[in-house]
Amino acid sequence: MHASAQTQHHPRLDAAVSHLADLIAFDTTSAYSNLAIIEHLRRFFAALGADVTVLPDASGEKANLIARLGPADVPGIVLSGHTDVVPANPKSWTSDPFHMQQRGSRLFGRGTCDMKGFAACVMAAAPAFAEGNLSRPFYFCFSHDEEVGCLGAPAIAKHLAALDVPPALAIIGEPSEMQLINGQKGKIAMEVTVHGDGGHSSFSPQHVNAVEYASRIIAMIGERSRRYQHEGPFDTDFSVPHATTLATIIEGGVATNVTPDACRFIFELRSIDQDASQADMQALIADVEAALLPEMQALAPNASIEWQEVFSYPAMGDATGCEMFKQLEPILPARGGKVSYGSEGGVFEIDGGIPSIIIGPGSIRQAHKPDEFIEMDQLGQCLAFFDELDTWMRR
Ligand SMILES: [Zn+2]
Repeated sequence: MHASAQTQHHPRLDAAVSHLADLIAFDTTSAYSNLAIIEHLRRFFAALGADVTVLPDASGEKANLIARLGPADVPGIVLSGHTDVVPANPKSWTSDPFHMQQRGSRLFGRGTCDMKGFAACVMAAAPAFAEGNLSRPFYFCFSHDEEVGCLGAPAIAKHLAALDVPPALAIIGEPSEMQLINGQKGKIAMEVTVHGDGGHSSFSPQHVNAVEYASRIIAMIGERSRRYQHEGPFDTDFSVPHATTLATIIEGGVATNVTPDACRFIFELRSIDQDASQADMQALIADVEAALLPEMQALAPNASIEWQEVFSYPAMGDATGCEMFKQLEPILPARGGKVSYGSEGGVFEIDGGIPSIIIGPGSIRQAHKPDEFIEMDQLGQCLAFFDELDTWMRR
């Protein structure tokens, strides 16, 4: 989409750009603490008179933030974003990933599109939200550790669900080029360790080769993925309209003349259905164990396959049937289908009972890459949407 004169000159665009520069300067790679950016946000929203809650995690190194503007006794709307970003290797970047740089119509920096651009727009719009009387409340939510498996969002969702009057809809600002996304795949990441039985490789027929068994499991995982592709179930609103599963990391073996006794690999299952993913995973595990374990244990009784979930987050269902969505729909952007990447929408639904949709500035194609950027016009479009939302929240 091209920059329109209208959005390019949104009166709050300069404020959004300046907030974005501030947010990018916090290196919030998921491996590090996010307390500094949370404190930055806490001060900002407290100064606007918002009711601010900081939810620290068990380690004390991370925190979520919830800021409410407007009345607590009517259902409101969540605007939600994560504070963490994926790692950036400065060597592959044209400019410092944590020092925002404008080049033409683009703003470069780690997190510009995923997803501090959305947070910057929320901050630019918040002073206007805070003026006068809102008929319904905004809940601005900022989480930790989304990029490593939506670890922070469940505490936010549970906190909101426990309120006397919980919010009725969540808008997740993941980069959707400001289109309305009404579905997102869920994911289970699983670590598998094959425990075999090793020794000098010249005696290999007497061993249980962990690397070989791991590859047979991986072949079964690949077969399962092809079956999803051919047999479904299908939801053609997704660009990849079925579940997928694949191995992503593998390590095993110690020397050229040793039968490996251990092999570890990681695979993922992305599901289109909120309910089916855990059952699908259990079925896959049962198939693998039935096919391979008897053979492994016939040679080495202690041989085993260990399954350890790394993380999982639920799929985001379709919120278009809920009451708040129907009321809001006239001011929402055009529908852009469903997405295969993760977001916290499913967490808000499962842990908070809050129907969720995704609308956010920037393109997912620029996320998780060197030279991540956001087009200024995307920020302008987001601010224009917030103007409409502001008016609607006062009706
Ligand atoms: Zn994101």
